[in-house]
Amino acid sequence: MSIYDKYEAVIGLEIHTQLSTKSKAYTADSTEYGVLPNTNVSPISLGHPGTLPYSNKKVIEYAVRLGLAVKSEIREVNEYARKNYFYADLPKGYQITQDKTPICTGGHITIKLDNGTEKNINITRIHMEEDAGKSIHDIDPTDTLIDLNRAGVALLEIVSEPELRSGEEAYKYLTEARKLVRYLDICDGNMEEGSMRCDANVSVRLKGAKEFGRRTETKNMNSMRNVQRAIEYEIKRQIEAIERGEEISQDTMNFDAVTGTTSVLRSKEMANDYRYFPEPDLQPVIVTKEYIEEVKRTLPPLPNDLFKKYIGLGLSAYDAGVLTDSKEIALYFEDIISKTKNAKAASNWLTVQIKSYLNDNALHISDFKITAERIAQLVDLIDSGKTSHTIAVQKIFPKMMEELDKSPAMIAEENNWIQESDSNALTDLAKQAIAKFPDKVAEYKAGKTNLLGLFMGEMMKLSKGKADPKVANELVKKLLDE
Ligand code: ADP
Ligand code: MG
Repeated sequence: MSIYDKYEAVIGLEIHTQLSTKSKAYTADSTEYGVLPNTNVSPISLGHPGTLPYSNKKVIEYAVRLGLAVKSEIREVNEYARKNYFYADLPKGYQITQDKTPICTGGHITIKLDNGTEKNINITRIHMEEDAGKSIHDIDPTDTLIDLNRAGVALLEIVSEPELRSGEEAYKYLTEARKLVRYLDICDGNMEEGSMRCDANVSVRLKGAKEFGRRTETKNMNSMRNVQRAIEYEIKRQIEAIERGEEISQDTMNFDAVTGTTSVLRSKEMANDYRYFPEPDLQPVIVTKEYIEEVKRTLPPLPNDLFKKYIGLGLSAYDAGVLTDSKEIALYFEDIISKTKNAKAASNWLTVQIKSYLNDNALHISDFKITAERIAQLVDLIDSGKTSHTIAVQKIFPKMMEELDKSPAMIAEENNWIQESDSNALTDLAKQAIAKFPDKVAEYKAGKTNLLGLFMGEMMKLSKGKADPKVANELVKKLLDE
């Protein structure tokens, strides 16, 4: 047994999601991204004397949406708190956040493990807070530049219980969290651009131990894979340190994506005392039961519910996963299956043909011009036997892209792609095909059954490719075996 197998990792994540509200959390300043530095800044964002913040209603709505989606308990009386610390990108010297009264407590996010089972990761709390500005160290050779456009932008912090057990599980949890905020339309979930950020708390303990080990907190991972890498590195580093007889100190670590390693950013002795106290400039926000009900009515279908629905329709876990990965794909699929009964075929069209068309052309599903109704019609056309799957894929589907106003049935008729499945006509063709090779018939009957392909080929040629291959195959076989 290797040293690594003796230990179990314990991981809890803190995810900061930047909300996609138009204005900031406590002022009307715009949140527009990419504008000139320090242009979206008012004296209120800077906390100048004489100014007063006020809460953005959208932030409350978004927090309630997320709370409902993860089945949290939602608090009625929401107080704000000041978290005091000094940093150049926080000129007012404190962050408005929530301390003892987070808007959501409890709830969970479900992840799917590789063995096919599900695991609920419980949520400790979700609270509202504001972002700080940005310090830019790599533009000016000597000075750090400060852009305060981000100062005051609304965040929701989602804190998980220490229930994740590997980097892989953390990756899955983040994937689900991102899917959720995107479905809910409250955050774009882009880790690379910093609109979703994650701190990973990691400790290790001997398997079977009851007490948790001492944890470190790693920051600055700008992708979900890097969160996984950072956690895997930390687990290994901590186990090796313990095996050498060292103690883990409760440090804040920095992850370096180039080397894939972590290093101490701040030790515990350097930790801030935030001196939390109630925010004196903001009234508590009251979230009533009626308001929660109102928000509930606007919730979109959620990925996990759709996943279960699709499994119930007989789709594989893989297909259900692909269909629910993005909300736009899922809603398009919902639209198709509201118009055709054949969910399996609809899923195949979407996950195979349509997806590869989109990939090949670097398009997003929102750029896809064929309506869900037309895809449903195409599915039904094939099911009715009027055309074959092959003709639909190779001919009708590409033509639908060019002639958006026409139904697949119209296109098939105009181009003579309606296949013969009328068995009288087909029987004639099958007889002709067989009659053409009398000596091969004898060989077939003598046991050379792979000659079936020859007769089939002839039959398809005679029908100009319009015979339903399945029906044709059965007919030729039946006639030969007579
Ligand atoms: P802090 O402000 O000290 O970071 P938070 O409550 O914001 O505290 O976050 C604590 C995070 O650390 C939670 O996600 C929690 O699950 C996790 N955590 C707590 N104890 C441990 C531990 N021993 N090992 C790993 N993670 C832990
Ligand atoms: Mg923390």
